[in-house]
Amino acid sequence: MTIATLSSPSLAAENIHSGPARVRFAPSPTGYLHLGGLRTALFNWLYARHTDGQFILRIEDTDQTRFSADSLEDIMRGLRWLGLNWDEGPDVGGPYGPYIQTERAELYQQYIEQLIAAGHAYRSYMTADELSALREEQKAKGVTQGYDRRDRNLTAQQIAAYEAEGRPSVVRLVVPIEGVTTIHDLIRGQTTWDNINLPADPVLMKSDGLPTYHFAVVVDDHLMQITHILRSDEWLSSTPIHQIIYDAFGWEMPQVAHLPVILDPSGKGKMSKRKKVVAGKEYLALVHEFIEAGYLPEAMHNFLTNIGWNFDAEREIFEPEEAIARFQLADINPAPAALPYEKLDWLNGVYIRDLAPGALKMRIAPFLSAALGMTEAELLASPKLDALIPLIRERMKRLTDVADLCDWAFMPAAEISYADPKMLLGKKLDAAQTIAALQAGSQMMREMPEFTSEALEAAFRAKADELDLKAGSFFGPFRAAITGKTVSPPLFESMAVLGRAEVLARVQNAIAVLREI
Ligand code: GLU
Repeated sequence: MTIATLSSPSLAAENIHSGPARVRFAPSPTGYLHLGGLRTALFNWLYARHTDGQFILRIEDTDQTRFSADSLEDIMRGLRWLGLNWDEGPDVGGPYGPYIQTERAELYQQYIEQLIAAGHAYRSYMTADELSALREEQKAKGVTQGYDRRDRNLTAQQIAAYEAEGRPSVVRLVVPIEGVTTIHDLIRGQTTWDNINLPADPVLMKSDGLPTYHFAVVVDDHLMQITHILRSDEWLSSTPIHQIIYDAFGWEMPQVAHLPVILDPSGKGKMSKRKKVVAGKEYLALVHEFIEAGYLPEAMHNFLTNIGWNFDAEREIFEPEEAIARFQLADINPAPAALPYEKLDWLNGVYIRDLAPGALKMRIAPFLSAALGMTEAELLASPKLDALIPLIRERMKRLTDVADLCDWAFMPAAEISYADPKMLLGKKLDAAQTIAALQAGSQMMREMPEFTSEALEAAFRAKADELDLKAGSFFGPFRAAITGKTVSPPLFESMAVLGRAEVLARVQNAIAVLREI
């Protein structure tokens, strides 16, 4: 068998393709979409839009042992949530489909035959058991573990004998033993590997007839006319194998740009695949967790755009269109960084306050209705929600904060509970004094001609003076009585939202509880 001499067509880093780019996000549906994956998709999308090119979604599902059915739905939902619309993909189709690799199985078969015929790949009949026995042997001898290329030069008779035995086979790539493979990465510059250090003849086609990642990714990127591969840094070490496959076919490899990985909040190692709690603080990792926690896609879009790239050192808030206009691969910072979670919370608050009240209402409705066990329609029909929005918008970091900020307004008086009845006590007041203050306030509220926040505030301040109480000591028991909380939106506005009868009923309940202390 002849092993072709391999040449690495070097693409100079400065030779950035200037026309419309065809880029792809190629997730494997083996788990839920991670924030790092969403950032990779976002950068691909930004580059496609910047160049007026196409953003393609391709599903790399050839590892059927790791397939998880609901992850595909989760990935698409995450991309749509961020507004990363794809021009070609499994659901929308396109001229280079199908876009799900298992649906392309026959096609890989045809290309693998081509490589075998040209001597760039060969069938290997070693079973999984034999392979692990080999590893054990290598381990015992203290030599490098891995496939020993034993089937590279099988004779036609040996092949026929194995086939007659009915042995399953895989197809392996002929990786040159000598020479080097060089990759020009648009972000990292040039990296050279000694071929002898590359994985020994990796499998391209498995015995189940499906290709491995290495083979499918090359065939698909070529056939789909991908111009740029933007993916996480973790894949850099696979790139020389891909280059060898491209060379074997005589195809040109798309330009590659390996994005910096996102680090764990500790700064040590890669960001974890699931949420974790460090020193009492929760660090989310999966996109659906961020959605459920009430982050706005606008805030996330802004946040992720600045992870490894920077819109502007001076300006924090910008529109996606502005980022598209400025986005350059050459400006991506190769250094990995941890996510600044506090900045995401801050940005989310900024974007929440930027929403028009009607828009904020629609965004918070699902979170609040879930917390209250009400339908969204019931909630949206309530005039209370409109009145509460100006009171809570300044206080929200996440949409989920809405429940704690205003659930009390929708609960019947009987459901307001006091975690500890002592929370009803006014500062420096005992139960009897607090009851007296609550009764005086109730009497006053019953007699007020108008039950508006302004009238309430004026009356309550005057009453505090009259009772010779500090404003805080007098107001505190009312806040706790009507909301069941010691911290709430502004008290008098909250009272006005509830209305006189409801406020009086809650104060009566609180008095009854205080009597039991
Ligand atoms: N299927 C790979 C993944 O799950 C794609 C890597 C690539 O973009 O080439 O990340």
